[in-house]
Amino acid sequence: MPAFSMKCYRVFRMDSNVVSALDNIKVVLVGTTHTGNIGSVARAMKTMGLSQLCLVAPKTVPDGQAYALAAGASEILAAAKTFETLAEAVADCALVVGSSARSRTLSWPMLDPRQCAKLAIAQSDKPVAVVFGRESSGLSNEELQLCHYHVCIAANPQYSSLNLAMAVQIVCYELRMAYLEHEPVPTDTELAAYPSSEQMENFYQHLETALQHTGFIIKQHPGVVMTKLKRLFNRARPEEAEYNILRGILTSMQRLEKVDSNTQKE
Ligand code: SAH
Repeated sequence: MPAFSMKCYRVFRMDSNVVSALDNIKVVLVGTTHTGNIGSVARAMKTMGLSQLCLVAPKTVPDGQAYALAAGASEILAAAKTFETLAEAVADCALVVGSSARSRTLSWPMLDPRQCAKLAIAQSDKPVAVVFGRESSGLSNEELQLCHYHVCIAANPQYSSLNLAMAVQIVCYELRMAYLEHEPVPTDTELAAYPSSEQMENFYQHLETALQHTGFIIKQHPGVVMTKLKRLFNRARPEEAEYNILRGILTSMQRLEKVDSNTQKE
């Protein structure tokens, strides 16, 4: 008997490369000020087996200090992708988790790092993003609303704000633990397909336009209806088939309006 147990880790085939679940989980840094933090994040990622780093509107591009702190993880830094907005960085993701040290005015489904990691690994057949905010002010409410869940690292309530790279290290460690423990999914089990973040944004725009046409939302005084609806749909997490039904309903409403307005004109 071998003294170790053979475990089958989850791998996906993407274009002819074999990619592990951890390679399908992006770490997204928004508006980072200190390049040293970006380098330390790259190192935190590599030690835990992650490789996809995205930078959203960084205040400065990775410099010598970033490479010094990345140490042996310089290739992650060199391959980091830069985006202007968070929406662009997570457009292809079906699961987006935003990390925050504080609870905001608008409550959102919360996870601890362990729950976050289990969910991310379970759903990593499609790109997943874990998003980290600015050193000075974290993520804006608008950015947090792009996320399906928020993850909070339990810390001293009197001082709960970790250094950015240390927060990334804790989440990446949990991702690694979840990856190592993950039971292989039986190949005959159908995993639910979820729409990407970009598809959901298109749906919200479609919904807002339809609700403006019906007069439920007044363009000049939109209020918080869309924010509440986004929270509702984020909580429900429609699957791809349900998403198509929702889009179909909106299109049918708009078709009806056109018929009505044509009838009124006649
Ligand atoms: N001063 C900021 C915190 C910045 S720390 C604020 O008050 O929001 C930089 C980033 O590290 C945060 O945006 C968050 O993504 C992450 N972070 C720091 N502490 C955290 C914690 N306790 N739980 C979850 N994320 C945390």
